[in-house]
Amino acid sequence: QAKERGRGIYQLYNRVMNSEASEQFVLRNGLRHALDRQELLLHYQPQVDLLSGRFIGIEALLRWQHPEKGLIPPATFIPLAEETGLIIEIGEWVLRTACQQAVEWQQEGLQPLSIAVNLSARQFYEPNLVEMIADILQETQLDPSSLELEITESTAIKNIDVTQGILAQIQAMGVRIAMDDFGTGYSSLNYLTQLPLDTLKIDRAFIQNLWSEAKELEIIHAVIALGRALDLTVIAEGIDNTEQLDLLRSLNCPIVQGYLTGRPSPANELRGVLQANWQQHCPSAEVELALQ
Ligand code: C2E
Ligand code: MG
Ligand code: MG
Ligand code: MG
Repeated sequence: QAKERGRGIYQLYNRVMNSEASEQFVLRNGLRHALDRQELLLHYQPQVDLLSGRFIGIEALLRWQHPEKGLIPPATFIPLAEETGLIIEIGEWVLRTACQQAVEWQQEGLQPLSIAVNLSARQFYEPNLVEMIADILQETQLDPSSLELEITESTAIKNIDVTQGILAQIQAMGVRIAMDDFGTGYSSLNYLTQLPLDTLKIDRAFIQNLWSEAKELEIIHAVIALGRALDLTVIAEGIDNTEQLDLLRSLNCPIVQGYLTGRPSPANELRGVLQANWQQHCPSAEVELALQ
């Protein structure tokens, strides 16, 4: 009896494990062909300068339109892409596509002029990263100052010295560097003195727990002051309501990005995003714009 039951549980366990393994297997295999089959696409999310009320940047965010599973978010497949090394090819495609899109927008006369692209750790430490970036800038003719590359703290601290060297080369081309998810890593203050950075993106965890008496408010306040002292731009990530906007404004936060500034959307829907969401939520910015 017990033996029977034991076997039943074992079989169930086996089935669950197998279905999870086969899920991963299906995704990993599918990812190999995702580029060729044009299943990868970018969504774009605007960043707003609170002083001028202008859209000044757009972050490119990768998506996978899977033939059976629908739209898959990056958190699900980027780890697989890193593990298999496919991230190198995929990352190159992301950078090229985002730069091309930025040039297109600039040619249409559409603000913002700046495009932000995420780099993963494996991509960052690839020996020809700097060359790849230079080639794509050359190929797309995007002005390097219109490009901002985002790395995370965990990428940076893998090897601070190497990171420092790579960032210096990237900056020498005129490309800006942002530290993404700032405040969630271990040694934030330590590397600030060592790495050449242009921008700090305050992680959305701080913004999402933000209210007028919260400690998060003080932390954001301090990061904004730190940014000002070190001559770094500060972007608050993940703002999705007007209460957060008002608080950030009261702290003189220079730039915000989140569902409130626009949901990440395909390029052809971005114009609508730029108009519909922001202006309706930010009447004072409209006034400032009108006064200029
Ligand atoms: P991230 O770079 O920190 O991007 C911001 C994430 O927050 C995006 O998730 C965005 O959709 C989400 N977000 C923006 N505003 C809000 C908001 O108001 N509320 C909430 N709850 N979420 C908001 P997404 O697109 O799922 O991307 C997740 C992460 O995947 C990114 O975090 C980035 O680390 C990574 N990623 C995205 N695209 C790429 C890529 O092309 N290459 C690499 N290496 N990583 C990427
Ligand atoms: Mg990012
Ligand atoms: Mg982030
Ligand atoms: Mg992130």
